Amino acid sequence: MLYNAPRGTRDILPDETRLWQYVEDKFRSVCDRFAYEEIRIPTFEHTEVFLRSVGETTDVVQKEMYTFDDKSGRSLTLRPEGTAGVARSFIEQGMSSNPYPVRLYYLLNLFRYERVGKGRYREFNQFGVEAFGSGEPDMDAEVIALADLFFAELGLKRRLHINSIGCPECRGEYQKLLYEYYLPHAAELCPDCQQRLERNPLRLIDCKVESCRAISRSAPRLLDYLDEDCRAHFDRVLEFLRSLGIEYTIDKDIVRGLDYYTKTVFEFVSENVGTQGTICGGGRYDTLIETMGGEEVPGVGFALGVERLLMELEAQGCLPELAQYPDLFIALQTEAAGAAAAGLALELRRRGLRVVSEVCGRSLRAQLKQADRSAARWVLVLGGNELETGTAELRQMESGERLTVNWCDAAAVWQEIKENKDAN
Ligand code: ATP
Ligand code: MG
Repeated sequence: MLYNAPRGTRDILPDETRLWQYVEDKFRSVCDRFAYEEIRIPTFEHTEVFLRSVGETTDVVQKEMYTFDDKSGRSLTLRPEGTAGVARSFIEQGMSSNPYPVRLYYLLNLFRYERVGKGRYREFNQFGVEAFGSGEPDMDAEVIALADLFFAELGLKRRLHINSIGCPECRGEYQKLLYEYYLPHAAELCPDCQQRLERNPLRLIDCKVESCRAISRSAPRLLDYLDEDCRAHFDRVLEFLRSLGIEYTIDKDIVRGLDYYTKTVFEFVSENVGTQGTICGGGRYDTLIETMGGEEVPGVGFALGVERLLMELEAQGCLPELAQYPDLFIALQTEAAGAAAAGLALELRRRGLRVVSEVCGRSLRAQLKQADRSAARWVLVLGGNELETGTAELRQMESGERLTVNWCDAAAVWQEIKENKDAN
């Protein structure tokens, strides 16, 4: 074997792409019903875009970015997440003059230099939404309801965990408390957390190192220190969720790994959890657009990991059977029938049937075997006799039923197959 795909990347082959298309279609459909519109953004951005938004002290920026200089020496980074690029586009394209809220969704592949494992890749995919222009709890609730409906329509069992990390004001006070709490434990913290303590103590809360987690267990939680406005916002969001019948767990440990979040943060976790159990994460980011040089525009959104979603759908037995078979296989008895077969096939495809005709020059026997293997519904053999008479036998594979058709009349062949298809 000469080449392998790079570590953390994977090929998605046709049996699997059908499942991807299934969840993609579902996501587009749900977004469409919420009146969100698709945005497509570049695969790479100026590195600065991520430093500014995701935050310099986050793991994503410190350890996980694919950053390179292009030939003219600009520092570029393959997008490690979607929100930053969408926010950059929002500002650059002047979307703040659009009617609010601006509702966007995306399907993106992303790149993070990660420790590869189950449900953790270096190139992976997210579906996400971003809603800009409303700071109201109504907007948080809409975004969460969208994710929840998507999961519901896939039949996925999931649990919403929600928290509030307040605004920069309540966080300022709280960071001091956190610092004082962790300082006496500084020597027991992992090297990363020792740095975090000085630069951004909030990051300590979601360190995954066991010794840090033990210390964090009794650390003060931001939810208990929210100011009045943030508290009221959070209570309203919860009220919305109750009235929409969306169950939730308040989880004071959620802080999210990206710096731009404010107030509401949430995650959808699956039943068969484990550390890879977070399928979807999101929250509000009221200061992001301004931080990136735009106007003061609040926003809220989420991103969900498609690989993890599919793993979880599979584990829960929620994936549909999506095998695809030709409606018709046109076999050739003689080489001379090839052009007639191709012509008939094209005409039937124009009418919407899935048709294959023999193109490998195989014996009739081998062709019929192939037709069987592909689970084609019907087989039509064209050869010397059929070319002369203009009639051929249409054979239904499952029942063995045979019909004589005028094969030159594509409409008639189509009619036979379609009627039968509709009846099934
Ligand atoms: P984790 O804590 O598992 O590293 P995260 O907080 O870094 O996740 P986000 O940046 O919030 O993840 O991205 C949202 C979702 O994208 C995650 O909940 C997960 O489903 C998915 N995701 C994140 N990183 C990866 C990855 N390396 N491979 C596959 N899916 C991923
Ligand atoms: Mg991560």
